Amino acid sequence: MNEDKNKKRFKLPNTPWFYIILALAIMMVVNLTRITSLMNGTVTTTTYSEFLNMLDEGRVQSVEVGSTTIIFTCEGNTPWQSQRYEAVLVDDPNLVSRLVRANVAFSGASSSGSFLDILIGIVLPLAFYAIMIFWIFRLFRGGSGGIGAMNFGKSSAKLYEISDASKKFTDVAGQDEAKEALVEIVDFLHEPAKYKAIGAKLPRGALLVGPPGTGKTLIAQAVAGEANVPFFFVSGSAFVEMFVGTGAARVRDLFKQASEKAPCIVFIDEIDAIGKKRDNMGISSNDEREQALNQLLAEMDGFDPSKGIVVLGATNRPEILDKALLRPGRFDRRITVDLPDLKGREAVLKVHARNIVMDPDIDFASVAKATVGASGADLANIINEAALRAVKMGRKSVIQEDLEASVDVVIAGSERKSLVIPEKERRMIACHEIGHALVAALQKNSAPVHKITIIPRTSGALGYTMQVDEDEHVLLSKENLLAKLAVLAAGRASEEFMFDSCTTGASNDIEQMTRLARSMVTRFGMSAHFGMMALETGASAYLGTDGQLACSIETATKIDDEVKAIIKGAFDSAMAIIRENSARLTSLSQALLDRETLTGEEFMQLLNQTPAVLEAGEAQE
Ligand code: ADP
Ligand code: ZN
Repeated sequence: MNEDKNKKRFKLPNTPWFYIILALAIMMVVNLTRITSLMNGTVTTTTYSEFLNMLDEGRVQSVEVGSTTIIFTCEGNTPWQSQRYEAVLVDDPNLVSRLVRANVAFSGASSSGSFLDILIGIVLPLAFYAIMIFWIFRLFRGGSGGIGAMNFGKSSAKLYEISDASKKFTDVAGQDEAKEALVEIVDFLHEPAKYKAIGAKLPRGALLVGPPGTGKTLIAQAVAGEANVPFFFVSGSAFVEMFVGTGAARVRDLFKQASEKAPCIVFIDEIDAIGKKRDNMGISSNDEREQALNQLLAEMDGFDPSKGIVVLGATNRPEILDKALLRPGRFDRRITVDLPDLKGREAVLKVHARNIVMDPDIDFASVAKATVGASGADLANIINEAALRAVKMGRKSVIQEDLEASVDVVIAGSERKSLVIPEKERRMIACHEIGHALVAALQKNSAPVHKITIIPRTSGALGYTMQVDEDEHVLLSKENLLAKLAVLAAGRASEEFMFDSCTTGASNDIEQMTRLARSMVTRFGMSAHFGMMALETGASAYLGTDGQLACSIETATKIDDEVKAIIKGAFDSAMAIIRENSARLTSLSQALLDRETLTGEEFMQLLNQTPAVLEAGEAQE
């Protein structure tokens, strides 16, 4: 402990380069002293016999006898040119008597110099190499508390102590099934003894599964809040580090911390980051993740269940999780947290409106209706945007108009007022949108039109037509899908009909149509040719990503043909409706150009007032 503190105070730089350069510098200094002593150039090497000769000639002035060498000075040709010689010592018992006889001053060589030499030349560099090697080992082993401020292997879990202001189940709107499944865990955390007495084993972990933003984190926090226990939050990706072993050390550390605070909730967000199926494909990149996963499995098996640690994991890709993670005793409960339905959306809006000054006769239900597919996070965002807009407009409370405008903002981005669109292009955009709306309104199996607008948005949309169904559907029939395709095709169809050309404005429609038509063939079994044949695997249920084709190249070609035929059919039926309603297309486009935005009712009223086609003889614009 104390050592650690000292190290921190000195703050040694924590890069290996520092030590390498330091060692090199020391070696250079050592060599320098040698080099300079050589450059002084006064010592000449000679032999012992030469020394004896000089001694006999009486030229030797003084002698230093070392343990292996003797160094002596000799007078040169001139007195100031005395010369130093060095010779290897021979074991000569008569040396002292010879020296005394010759009357030469002699002494033993001082040993301090050679000691310093050894210290600088050998001990210090060795010590530095040792420190360096030790340091590098420490770095790679991922032990905690390395030199300096390094802190490998320490869990980065943030510990949220529960306070009064913590989340409760009442903060989570809808999601009744999920809450119900978790009530038991709350009770267990309250009174572990009750369960222990009867011998019941509670789940050690539960997996919260659902699309992003549906409140998985929120629910986990609410469980901790209800049970009044600490909440550990950690993201799965925090366990995947560059150095192998660090992640595993973090897992170990997290559970150590958790068992100190038990009973508690450990929440691992995005658990698929470590819990992905182990495979043999990766060479080294998977090692780290696998070690972290193995450690997690070991920890979950290891902790004493009566202690009250409950691990909640969240993921939106349950299909890629390792089977070992899902077996009983680990994340054996799977709790689905799906996108909210109509009632759920209304409830979420109301929960978030609690802290906001709202006009008393706000119709949350109509907003909920207009936000099919929105997640809890989107809805929270809508309420906040509405509040911001109310402030901007200088109002004291949020009114319905604010809410409706913020739905558009969340769906399509904010308005781009500065964008100037040439008149001809505006007419084409209006015609395109009215095309969508006409086909939507005049077809069976289509949801009614809610809103049409040609105000450009920051998302890049130049206009859009919004349809809102009267009631929620959990199933879509083939007829629904075909009707949807026709509505999507209608934008391009009306451009072609009115202007006899096509624009880039339909690119998003085309993308959506192709994806939908392809899914009908490969996933929904709705093509005559293939029937109920699964042609695609691995599509994600919650993220809406596509899977991969699982068929031969020939079949893939046939799929393309089928998709093409479906799209062609949708375009033709859209074109037929447009052609039969040419007069309506013209006059409604003009109305949209004038007003920029039409509500569903305004649109239907205009539609019913206008004859489908112009009477013969009436002038066409
Ligand atoms: P996830 O973890 O599923 O991605 P979060 O729990 O982080 O989603 O949700 C993000 C935010 O969305 C929450 O902080 C909350 O404000 C809001 N939210 C989502 N679902 C709900 C819900 N059912 N009730 C209330 N608020 C919700
Ligand atoms: Zn379109």
